[in-house]
Amino acid sequence: MPENSISTSKKESILEYFGCNVFSSDVMRERLPKRVFQELTRTREEGKALDPYVADVVANAMKDWAVERGATHYCHWFQPLTGLTAEKHTSFLSPAGDRGFLMEFSGKDLIQGEPDASSFPSGSLRESFEARGYTVWDYTSPAFVKEDGDNITLFIPSAFCSYTGKALDYKTPLLRANEAINRNALRILRILGDTKTRRVDVTLGVEQEYFLIDRKFIPLRLDLMETGRTIFGARPPKNMALSVHYFGAITEEVASFMNEVNLELWKLGISADTQHHEISPCQFEIASVFATVNVSTDQNQLVMQTLQKVARRHGLECLLHDKPFSTLGGSGKHINWSLASDWGANLLDPGETPHENEIFLIFLGAVIKAVDRYPTLIRESVADAGNDHRLGAMEAPPAIISIFLGDELLEILKRIGNRESNDHLKSDVIKLGVSSLPPLPKDLTDRNRTSPFAFTGNRFEFRTPGSAVTTARPAFAITAAVADALGEIAQELEMADDINTVAQDILKGIIKEHGRIIFNGDNYSEEWVAEAERRGLPNLPDTIDALAAVMNEEIIRLCERNRILTHDEFQARLDSSYEHYALQILIEGRCALKMAQCQILPRVMEYSARLASGLRSVEEAGFPGEVYRKNLKGVSSLMGDLQTRIEELEEALGKTEAIPDIRERAVFARDRMIPVMSELRHVVDSLEMVVDSDLWPLPTYAHMVYGR
Ligand code: ADP
Ligand code: MG
Repeated sequence: MPENSISTSKKESILEYFGCNVFSSDVMRERLPKRVFQELTRTREEGKALDPYVADVVANAMKDWAVERGATHYCHWFQPLTGLTAEKHTSFLSPAGDRGFLMEFSGKDLIQGEPDASSFPSGSLRESFEARGYTVWDYTSPAFVKEDGDNITLFIPSAFCSYTGKALDYKTPLLRANEAINRNALRILRILGDTKTRRVDVTLGVEQEYFLIDRKFIPLRLDLMETGRTIFGARPPKNMALSVHYFGAITEEVASFMNEVNLELWKLGISADTQHHEISPCQFEIASVFATVNVSTDQNQLVMQTLQKVARRHGLECLLHDKPFSTLGGSGKHINWSLASDWGANLLDPGETPHENEIFLIFLGAVIKAVDRYPTLIRESVADAGNDHRLGAMEAPPAIISIFLGDELLEILKRIGNRESNDHLKSDVIKLGVSSLPPLPKDLTDRNRTSPFAFTGNRFEFRTPGSAVTTARPAFAITAAVADALGEIAQELEMADDINTVAQDILKGIIKEHGRIIFNGDNYSEEWVAEAERRGLPNLPDTIDALAAVMNEEIIRLCERNRILTHDEFQARLDSSYEHYALQILIEGRCALKMAQCQILPRVMEYSARLASGLRSVEEAGFPGEVYRKNLKGVSSLMGDLQTRIEELEEALGKTEAIPDIRERAVFARDRMIPVMSELRHVVDSLEMVVDSDLWPLPTYAHMVYGR
């Protein structure tokens, strides 16, 4: 058993140590004075600022708890616009004069940190001379203790903003969007007679796909090492055929890896709902049990980090790139999105009574309206250079956003849409005509795996995100759009004299105006691309298209109206996405150049020299040199192409790097670098098929995915 792993005997006490490293509500209830705990809970519910006295007491209890668990340091853990997480560890120890040292942690330290922000992307928000940024404790996600080797640290989930209070991360807008949902959902629930619900939060359940390969290949492949994907590699004979498949048998080696991942995650209070083999060789999925959107976003970051950490202990490498191997299926991250009340009701659950149905239909209508109105915002939220390799490739949803509802639900909506009168309804119960409708299906069994945004019975499953994206981005986009739609619906209902009629009219209106976003058919088909165009739905094949389309006034107004992002903050996010995109392509280009120039070309030259001298030898000995000549000709011609492509790439790289404007640089990277890189790849992959395998400098696809 690898060092560091948790002994199996501990498995018996799973329930005992599930969440043992989390400073949860239960721990706080146990350790905080009752009054302080109540005050903290109230502050959370009302989204207010924390009383400094309460903060001090909480900080002290948190420190004592963490120290008991072996922590010596704490850190504000935040999610800058890189999409990764950041942490700076600070010791609890502080000098106390004659008394030596004290373990200290104040409320001020808990609430706010001040990291040097200059090295994080900020778009246009912060001039580089103003390096100050703040991390602010996000008390809606629990603090936890993280064990990395022998190092044990208290992690405090935080938001990250500039000196002037502008959001510099992906978490702040997500929190703000969730607040907007809460405000507007409560307005609707109240009008519909719900007096019980005190809070509504978005819930998110994340399915994470990943590849596992032998770690020994990483140092042999600069592309994997630096970009997380293979830039070169010919199709292996078997590729995805035979032997492995979706839900296929899991080898002992992978099973023990998964076991250890689970044990680690349990300690952090994260439970894997399901885990299974995915469709490609070496590809797997772990789905964690859903939680409120903010907690779930933090948990997914921990899941990704744990997968990578544990893989290394087992001599494996976990690849989280959206498309590590071009000939195999890519990895996605399905996010399951719903709305939950503080007492556990799922607002997207059809339910069994007319009243539940009615709430369900209104919230369902809001999602339909939201997605149809802001498809570009949702599309852009998953756009990056990695995911561009997946979308529209007939293995992942297309870049066209649409909703799958299933035939039954669609039929019900159509019937509501066609309804002429609701005179016969009793006025004491708002039924929206539900009494005359068939009961809503509890469990929609029909599935459509090609849909980007599918209703799956009591939630929506957004399947377009790539495996590496932070869930904060897509969750923010859906949440913001739905919050806005809920706001409009709430306003219409609030002004209504007759809520019944207005509610029905709202639904009818949504079906009429936004029904075009619903598509139950095959999203991979070419007909759909044409049909979507006829319906006026945007088709944004790559990141640059998505970024260009999302910069529009309507989307900025949505963000401002709901107090989610200001114009500047929105712009800054886009700038940093352009910058990130250009950087990704540049790094891939530099990598491709280095590999082609310094690894592949020398071996190809060596092989052709070998063929040439072989040809001389056999002819000198009086034998026919036909086979040598034929191969030499083929290799020489490809070698010439290789040299040309290398020069072209060098030139394109130089030009891209020299463009000062980040947007222009990104556009140029897409238009010039990507085509040159793909032509270079074509030549390299052709050479892989003809050059002596002993000379080929890179581990092949077959070795990496089948070689264990
Ligand atoms: P699939 O059928 O798509 O493979 P999985 O069983 O792999 O589904 O994953 C389903 C995911 O949906 C899990 O992460 C689960 O926790 C999540 N989920 C279930 N109910 C909800 C809900 N109400 N809100 C958000 N996520 C949910
Ligand atoms: Mg799924």
